Amino acid sequence: MLVIDNLSVRYGTVQAVANISVRVARREFVSVIGSNGAGKTSLLKAISGTVASSAARLTFNDADLRSMQPSRIAKLGIAHVPEGRQVFKEMAVEENLLMGAMGHADWKPRLEAQYELFPRLAERRAQLAGTLSGGEQQMLAIGRGLMSAPKLLMLDEPSLGLAPNLSDLIFSHIQEVYKKSDMAVLLIEQQAAEALELSDRTYVIESGRVSLEGPSAELANNDSIRQSYLGVW
Ligand code: ATP
Repeated sequence: MLVIDNLSVRYGTVQAVANISVRVARREFVSVIGSNGAGKTSLLKAISGTVASSAARLTFNDADLRSMQPSRIAKLGIAHVPEGRQVFKEMAVEENLLMGAMGHADWKPRLEAQYELFPRLAERRAQLAGTLSGGEQQMLAIGRGLMSAPKLLMLDEPSLGLAPNLSDLIFSHIQEVYKKSDMAVLLIEQQAAEALELSDRTYVIESGRVSLEGPSAELANNDSIRQSYLGVW
């Protein structure tokens, strides 16, 4: 479904991503873990076309994403929920969700599906997004991504800045929506334990390169992962 070979992202002299190759199959749940500045966000931005990149191959269901406009990439079925809950703060919850539908005719059942998934958003449908709590804004950002009925949902650190009980809630929502739908998920997380638990396969990124990849259950038992990312000695 998503095939990336030798992808690189550069910001001036900074090489943020260096020759990364990643695969996401249909309905697969893939996570990417790595420390601060490892290049995780840049990888997602390169896929959604919001930063320039170079790659030997960058295809989604055989469509070449290289030099494609972000809006066309989104229309192919890739939803990018960016880091930092970038909701439209001056707009109501429902207006934010409708923005995600990108003019689709069946926005109504999709809206109801988000309210069913996130009852807190249903209660607050008329509230300005900027007045929601951090966890609620994250739910809204995910709900907005889901409104496009994506084939691939890309989530950039959905737990960032949330208290542990709220990030647990967000992770359980992600798991629920993944199980109910037939989409694939590409999850970026610094909370490695949760990412390994939720996903089928994981890539570990260090300094812009993939240092390890494999089935998440295997990586969770890998000594160096346990020491570096899970704090288990
Ligand atoms: P974090 O977990 O802290 O969000 P990350 O793994 O997502 O980090 P990126 O945000 O992709 O990492 O950043 C990778 C590297 O690229 C970092 O060294 C960062 O400082 C640099 N970088 C990112 N965006 C830019 C930019 N717009 N201009 C210059 N350098 C950038």
